[in-house]
Amino acid sequence: MASAPLISLRGISRAYPSGERMVSVLRDVDLDIRAGEMIAIVGASGSGKSTLMNILGGLDQPSTGTYRFAGRETAHLDADELAALRREHIGFIFQRYHLLPELTAQENVEMPAIYADRPAEARADRARALLERLGMGERRQYRPGQLSGGQQQRVSIARALMNDAEVILADEPTGALDSRSGAEVLNILSELHAEGRTVILVTHDMEIAKRAGRIIELRDGAIISDRTLGDAPLPRIGQAVRRGAEGGFGLGRFGELFRMALLTMRAHKLRTFLTMLGIIIGIASVISVVALGEGSRQKVLAEISSLGTNTLEIFPGESFGDVRSNKVRSLVIADADEIARQPYAAAVTPSVTASTRARRDNIEATVQANGVGAGYFEARGVKLVAGSLLEPADIADLAQVAVIDTGTRDALFPGRTSEEVLGEVILLDKVPARVIGVADTSGMMGPAGSLRAFLPYTTVQSRIVGSTTLRSITLKVADDTDVALAETAVTELLTRRHGVKDFFVINTDDIRQTITATTETLTLLIAAIALISLVVGGIGVMNIMLVSVSERVSEIGVRMAVGARQQDILRQFLVEAVVVCLLGGVLGVGLALGLGPLFAAAGSSFTLIYSTGPILGAVACASLIGITFGYMPARSASRLDPVAALSQG
Ligand code: ADP
Ligand code: MG
Repeated sequence: MASAPLISLRGISRAYPSGERMVSVLRDVDLDIRAGEMIAIVGASGSGKSTLMNILGGLDQPSTGTYRFAGRETAHLDADELAALRREHIGFIFQRYHLLPELTAQENVEMPAIYADRPAEARADRARALLERLGMGERRQYRPGQLSGGQQQRVSIARALMNDAEVILADEPTGALDSRSGAEVLNILSELHAEGRTVILVTHDMEIAKRAGRIIELRDGAIISDRTLGDAPLPRIGQAVRRGAEGGFGLGRFGELFRMALLTMRAHKLRTFLTMLGIIIGIASVISVVALGEGSRQKVLAEISSLGTNTLEIFPGESFGDVRSNKVRSLVIADADEIARQPYAAAVTPSVTASTRARRDNIEATVQANGVGAGYFEARGVKLVAGSLLEPADIADLAQVAVIDTGTRDALFPGRTSEEVLGEVILLDKVPARVIGVADTSGMMGPAGSLRAFLPYTTVQSRIVGSTTLRSITLKVADDTDVALAETAVTELLTRRHGVKDFFVINTDDIRQTITATTETLTLLIAAIALISLVVGGIGVMNIMLVSVSERVSEIGVRMAVGARQQDILRQFLVEAVVVCLLGGVLGVGLALGLGPLFAAAGSSFTLIYSTGPILGAVACASLIGITFGYMPARSASRLDPVAALSQG
């Protein structure tokens, strides 16, 4: 024959390392195969038949020698070029079928076309036609587990034909079949040969081999005979249909990856859920912690705003931490009067406090007696519930009147309304005071649940405390004055009066800023801890992906045999990792959002205030974790050797 051979092997050998030495499995094989031939390779088990087939199919590469396919040297092809050779020219049929158990017959047949970027509809049509032609039309939606061996082998033949391969490599295709199914499969192979395809068949059955036009016998990796039978069917070259133009940018492949990921997740529901759990918990905690931080910040700020703005508080002592502060008697009413005369003072309210035993009839309670000025209530945002507040005249007259808070009302007058207690007289450390008003102090700072009564500071000083020193002076700064300037001025003024700085000034704006900064720092800190749990979740994902890869080695081998590129395998596992993490992220966001109403329903004083920033950040974080921790397992999957992977079936 004059035409150049389709396949040409020269001096091919293949050796495997075995301990220290190399074991030669193929030795110096020369072989020419013309397009349209039907060839049987026979030989004892271990003689190198499969090794030769793997080299012919581009699954494996020879150690030495040249292999030209359609005139092109394959020795220098990289992994993806070999994948393209398999995808476009070779159809494999294996002894053990190697179908993917999670896919239907139809989906198994379509798989090579996905990697060839064939449009979905054309793919489905062709797969259907092939299955019908092979008598499997009725069972297109069956999974391999629901099919007999012969039926599975027909599905795998349909898969080999999917990309219209011109070379069919069948490695003991009837080895696992009963004689009738085996005969049917052989008839199909003969038909494929008759329509012009090159069929290379491995068998150790001489009867089967005789159906081929040419029998090549291997022994210990060398060809010992190559016979062409006289009565063999003549090859009919050039009749195989070539496929149409390949289209698309792999978008279809991407959609398939996504679908495959969902399929795998469905097949391993519990494992997938456990994998996701780390991500769910991590994402939920990041979001709720940030929301909780924001909730507390706003709550604290609301409390501070009850202090009023533009307000300075002057206390005796060095600072809040000064334990002697209570005993320091440096602030006196004359200081308050002097401050009130300054141009920057809008209102000045001295205050003096004493813890007292409050009594009415035989009911007793510990109540904090707050001696205050008339301007105190406005400056502190205390809301009147009933009656009236203290008047300047009450201050001047040392009147024995009191505004009590609702807690004191409930303690001393159980079961009575605010209106009902007006005019009643209570005893504070034996000092009688008439209740003129009831106020709501829930917005005020201070220990929760403490009871308070507000009396003129003059009254508390002279009758309860018995001294003229003050607990604090509250200065409301005039609107046109800068609070910081007023702070400097009042500090100078008092230092001059006292000779030393034996007091400290608190600027409510400073407190506000400090608290904002503190809650932000705290939120950041806790969010960082939550982030660590996310990373732990990510490591869990990586762990499971590694298990998944090792479990699915033979699936990876099959995909590579039908022409998946390394990139396709890499992406498949990456997409799986990202889908698991993203789904975990979405569930985590849902869990976090559900916590808010749950907190509220439980009557918690914490509020969760969600913002979109952390939510989007968390979801982005989840995908990033998927990519980061999925990459290593995915890469190791894509680097697998197809022959080794396939042999793990
Ligand atoms: P056949 O298909 O003719 O039964 P194979 O081609 O599968 O034979 O194997 C031929 C020889 O090569 C066997 O002795 C086998 O043990 C050896 N062999 C095949 N694959 C490997 C491998 N990956 N590493 C080492 N030895 C191998
Ligand atoms: Mg073999």
